[in-house]
Amino acid sequence: MQIIDGKKVSANVKESVRLETDRLIAEHGVTPGLAVVIVGDDPASRVYVNNKKKACGLVGFKSEEYALPAETTQEELLALVDTLNKKPDINGILVQLPLPEHLDDKAVIERISPEKDVDAFHAVNVGKIMLGEYDFLPCTPAGVMEMLRQYEIPVEGRECVVIGRSNIVGKPMGMLLLHENGTVTICHSRTKNLKEVCQRADILVAAVGKAKFVTADMVKDGAVVIDVGMNRDENGKLCGDVDFENVKDKCSYITPVPGGVGPMTIATLMKNTLKACRLQNGIDD
Ligand code: NAP
Repeated sequence: MQIIDGKKVSANVKESVRLETDRLIAEHGVTPGLAVVIVGDDPASRVYVNNKKKACGLVGFKSEEYALPAETTQEELLALVDTLNKKPDINGILVQLPLPEHLDDKAVIERISPEKDVDAFHAVNVGKIMLGEYDFLPCTPAGVMEMLRQYEIPVEGRECVVIGRSNIVGKPMGMLLLHENGTVTICHSRTKNLKEVCQRADILVAAVGKAKFVTADMVKDGAVVIDVGMNRDENGKLCGDVDFENVKDKCSYITPVPGGVGPMTIATLMKNTLKACRLQNGIDD
């Protein structure tokens, strides 16, 4: 069994983004810029935003934070998105979700210019992913694919089972595995015989949001298990969707939580922002 080291893989990605950023600055005089918008004071969102800003600093991007009060109106938020859409030194816009209940996150996402939608949540970008002709990939699933690539884990022809069908993880995860010629099954809360379906998986991706949901009896010997979940266990400790201690010995590869998929999400965000900067400045060398 080998543990997939998300910190190491993400450090590799960030290092290549940093080198490319240095080159863009030196040869083209442009610095990629990311705007991060946070509304309200959700502590988990604050941690994510701080990590994103830190990563920007590490790779040499300019980052701007727009921290708005919880009582911000829809109109005020949309007006900020409009301003950022027009700002030439901002290449990527990220609105940290979830938004406070009175705000319509779908409308906000649709207002972001697709060229600056570095989360790849806009309908235009989602459609491009379906067609396989994308500029940006959604950060978490693309991070998983990068882990598989760096560990040289083949996808082609293998049984891939994704548990979860959310728009931000499960569905695009299935699509990316399909693009790599995996045979993909996407499971959800209405799936019958979930255990038997999971037992077929050569590559099992858990994106459920339930602590220790994937147990050893659901995992085939030698499977690759990717744990996207970020939950708190009964002691308030961060844990994934997989019962890591009992599952790990059955796997050929497994991602831990923390230190697995989590760091990959931010690394892909950096990659997407760099790409957005290149596209917006017409740089194709
Ligand atoms: P979500 O929107 O709540 O989706 C959860 C999915 O799991 C749904 O499709 C749901 O099915 C399915 N599900 C729930 N109970 C199930 C059951 N008993 N059997 C089979 N399927 C079941 O969550 P999400 O946004 O995709 O996130 C999933 C997890 O990943 C969360 O822990 C989240 O914190 C984590 N996450 C991590 C990162 C990262 O950077 N590592 C990024 C994003 C999310 P239905 O559709 O039928 O309801």
